[in-house]
Amino acid sequence: MSALKQRIDSLLVEPGCATNQAKSDKARKEGCKKPLTPGAAAGGCAFDGAKIALQPVVDVAHLVHGPIACEGNSWDSRHVYSSGPQTYRTGFTTDMAEFDVIYGGEKRLYRAIKEIIDKVNPPAIFVYQTCLPAMIGDDVEGVCKAASAKFGTPVIPVNAPGFAGSKNLGNKLGGEALLDHVVGTLEPEYTTDCDINLIGEYNVVGEFWQVKPLFDALGIRVLATFCGDARYRDIAGSHRAKAAIMLCSQALINIARKMDERYDIPFFEGSFYGIADMSDCLRRITRLLVERGAPADLPERAEALIAREEARAWARLEKYRARLAGKRVLLFTGGVKSWSVVSALQEVGMEIVGTSMRKSTQGDRAKVVEIMGTDAHMFDELPPREMYRMLKESQADVMLSGGRSQFVALKAKTPWVEINQERHHAYAGYDGVANLVAEIDKALYNPIWSQVRQPAPWELAEGWGE
Ligand code: SF4
Repeated sequence: MSALKQRIDSLLVEPGCATNQAKSDKARKEGCKKPLTPGAAAGGCAFDGAKIALQPVVDVAHLVHGPIACEGNSWDSRHVYSSGPQTYRTGFTTDMAEFDVIYGGEKRLYRAIKEIIDKVNPPAIFVYQTCLPAMIGDDVEGVCKAASAKFGTPVIPVNAPGFAGSKNLGNKLGGEALLDHVVGTLEPEYTTDCDINLIGEYNVVGEFWQVKPLFDALGIRVLATFCGDARYRDIAGSHRAKAAIMLCSQALINIARKMDERYDIPFFEGSFYGIADMSDCLRRITRLLVERGAPADLPERAEALIAREEARAWARLEKYRARLAGKRVLLFTGGVKSWSVVSALQEVGMEIVGTSMRKSTQGDRAKVVEIMGTDAHMFDELPPREMYRMLKESQADVMLSGGRSQFVALKAKTPWVEINQERHHAYAGYDGVANLVAEIDKALYNPIWSQVRQPAPWELAEGWGE
């Protein structure tokens, strides 16, 4: 059995995954090999998933070994920000073509690595395997090993060719590359009893910067993020953290669980979306750190910070409360957002008419029931035709979803707010709740809706449509 096949099989039965835990022994052994529906949008390949998980490491050169379209497809698919280095923004690719299929692409890959080191000299290079070199049998791991030895720069193979599976599987394969080749390879310059890792935080539109000041205020150091605004050195030394918060159980649960096993770094799943969830995160991490040797007054200081920040957030939300209370929201997202955004919206009195449970775990489902008091508003699938009918019949005043569903809302002449990875506004932490509510308010009260809902002039003409 190939190493990749073994790796995939182990990820498909990941014991830390809540979906797996809820299965019978027989179903668990079978793994998650749900075939994709022909004709349905698969939502990105495994390579794409690995790139999404790792590209936020900002000082690293991300080299895609494959045809240029693979890199073109995946470059900048998310608005992840850097506070310094911009190396991650350059699209490096070996641009494989017909001759490479015949003669092999290993030499081309080696030359590309050398050229990057000569011209950019990054602290490390991540080399992404794609379908084509995997099918012709290029030994990417061997080339990376030889280049690392020759040039003295870590060259990390990321073995997640597109055909291996879904985007989600690719996220985890990207995580495995970090566990195999990066985590634990360097020591941090110093350590403290308040060092933590954030796992599954990608700094999309700068969301990490909305929560970092809160940790700073408490003297908690974020040793490494996986991988928003991350530096190679930080991830290499992340094994010295005292505790971790996992922010997206679907993507990088394998990192959280294996770092707990290997380096004794306990973790819990939290969310930075919504006032209550942000406060809950701060309370849990401070308690966990005290158990691990942090100063005993940390929870007390956290309570003072929470009281101050909550008061400030509520004051910002107050002006929207009267405008948004009772407005009905259809939430079409998934994973952790299926419950964390629900609680955020309920905080301003909005009514949730439906929340999708795509990509959500059993834990996510339980949290929705806990927050909403019922499972009546959860749905697994909502085909575009059904979504259109709901919106057309005015069963919701506004829809929050990813970009792919926006045209259904626009066709139904319903306000829509981007909530997924293509968003342009940061929604994390106490300030993020106010941003989200402000965006919903802007969408709902945009005068365009009253205009587009008017009949067109020709529709008013006598005999139109007969
Ligand atoms: S499926 Fe394969 S060829 Fe297509 S983008 Fe993904 S890695 Fe590239």
